[in-house]
Amino acid sequence: MEYPSSIESWHEQLKAEALRLGFSRMAVAPATLFEKAGLRLQNWLDAGYDGEMSYLKNRKEAYYDLGKVLEGAESVVMLTLNYGNEPPPPAMPGSGRVSRYAWGATDYHRLIRKKLKAFSKFYRQGRPGVLVRGVVDTAPLLEKEFAQLAGLGWIGKNTLLLNSRAGSWFFLAALLTDEKLPVNEPVTTSQCANCTACLEVCPTDAFVEPYVLDARKCISYLTIELRQPIPLEHREAIGDWVFGCDLCQEVCPYNKRTPQSTEPSFEPQEGLYPLEIFPLFSMTEETMKERFSQTPLWRTGRAGLLRNGAIVLGNQRPPEGIAVLIEALEDRSPVVRGAVVWALGQYLRQDEFATDREKILTALDKSQSTELDIEVLKELEVALMF
Ligand code: SF4
Ligand code: SF4
Repeated sequence: MEYPSSIESWHEQLKAEALRLGFSRMAVAPATLFEKAGLRLQNWLDAGYDGEMSYLKNRKEAYYDLGKVLEGAESVVMLTLNYGNEPPPPAMPGSGRVSRYAWGATDYHRLIRKKLKAFSKFYRQGRPGVLVRGVVDTAPLLEKEFAQLAGLGWIGKNTLLLNSRAGSWFFLAALLTDEKLPVNEPVTTSQCANCTACLEVCPTDAFVEPYVLDARKCISYLTIELRQPIPLEHREAIGDWVFGCDLCQEVCPYNKRTPQSTEPSFEPQEGLYPLEIFPLFSMTEETMKERFSQTPLWRTGRAGLLRNGAIVLGNQRPPEGIAVLIEALEDRSPVVRGAVVWALGQYLRQDEFATDREKILTALDKSQSTELDIEVLKELEVALMF
């Protein structure tokens, strides 16, 4: 390898290598602590907006001190990877929408980790003795804040990183180094201006105010991070989202003309966009694992996917859903059974399913006589109040 003559040309070489490895953009921020960002995180955590994501609280100290991620960190090399694709066909009854980042055959963590490994190797070969560490959601790092500091965009009112040319359909990753690299110009102001499209479209009113998200109300959190039953007040608003939600990105004017992903692993997979729900209920755990374990969808696990699937069926109410749900009343997971009971209750309340009522009520009565889980019993009580 030809060694760079100056740190400036090393920066350029790094950029060329990042692009060669398939990253979409690269820029460098100083590894400085910035109080404002730390304070914002602290206030957000204090308000409880993180819900069950306790890992954020547990390692919050490290978010303020990059030395805990890499000793002597001086620079943060921020990288983006576009995952934008054509909008999906609408979700027909019996199928649910999946967040755009999860349409591909591979979990992005795995793919980015591989690229970061190659990038780290390139760095170490070029600068022997320098410490580097690649990060993709695996270590406490305020990625969006560092990306803004590196000039890659601004944090929008929807709390995501936005770039005037690339929109927000991209992943963020970072490489920390104890070498002082030339840094890029930060973006210091939001370019959201008077736009409020993302705030208005949110079906669960998850934005407390512009730039502040109550994750506990966000469909992405409810369908992916939450392991418990989805709170009753949000179930209808979930609509047909079976995994995540993209609404506040879809309406963003900066996402109207964005670059398409060139990464083959992000090519939308048949049956994933939208996701067919009925087959999920007849899959064994093994088949399901085989089908989804390489994709981001597996983050919810079997119970999460079936719980979400039942909620979507309860919202869409396709006639064929009744038999599928009745059978799922015997699912081994109480979280699934609870969602299934709710979904059947939604059918009960519709006149168009009057001829199915007896069948549904008989199935729910039977469940009530054998159910032992207290939460499912509560769901049954509400459903049978019809
Ligand atoms: S992802 Fe969906 S639910 Fe979450 S804030 Fe955006 S629009 Fe609201
Ligand atoms: S929709 Fe409008 S307000 Fe929301 S992030 Fe995009 S530009 Fe900003």
